[in-house]
Amino acid sequence: MSFPQRLIEGYSAFAAGRLRSEQDRYRELSERGQTPEIMVIGCCDSRVSPEVIFDAKPGELFVVRNVANLVPPYEVEGKYHGVSAALEFGVGVLKVKHIVVLGHAQCGGVQAYAEDAEPISPGDFIGRWMSLMAPAAQKVGARGDLPRAEYLERMEKASVVNTLDNLMTFPRLRKLIERGSVTLHGAYFGVAMGALSVLDRATGEFRQVTAKR
Ligand SMILES: [Zn+2]
Repeated sequence: MSFPQRLIEGYSAFAAGRLRSEQDRYRELSERGQTPEIMVIGCCDSRVSPEVIFDAKPGELFVVRNVANLVPPYEVEGKYHGVSAALEFGVGVLKVKHIVVLGHAQCGGVQAYAEDAEPISPGDFIGRWMSLMAPAAQKVGARGDLPRAEYLERMEKASVVNTLDNLMTFPRLRKLIERGSVTLHGAYFGVAMGALSVLDRATGEFRQVTAKR
């Protein structure tokens, strides 16, 4: 069997630990379904799992992850819209109260866009997908004398704000936000130190959350 041994071991640890202590919760969730109040739009990056960062229990977070935590603007034309489908389900069926766009440091997608990386495959899926952050890049402006890391951080954070703007293009969601039934949030995870910052939408600044240790 070529199923990764690492996953068999991980599952064994889960079954002996977390599953045992949360068995009742799993059973209950299976019977009455999920009712998460928070939806997280995160990046595929293996270092930034929302369930780990927010110490979430099963059933607490409705998570959609894609390259660079982006949301394309609302459109009914076109073919397959994974993020829109997840939004439709999260907002329309689960009736989440919060949507958090979680950006992060050292995002490969943002780097690829900022540094105009060569397409990895003929389809250039990353290049086309990352072009969604063009409005964010425009706001940040040219790199100029900025150190690379600082420029990329600005791009990553501006992209979170741009994604929040794109969420407002979904008519039904926009209505719910204006009514106060759904609240949008931006956040940013600094991988090296595990620092979490939350966007203050009034000032446009990301403020670090002070965690009690
Ligand atoms: Zn990323």
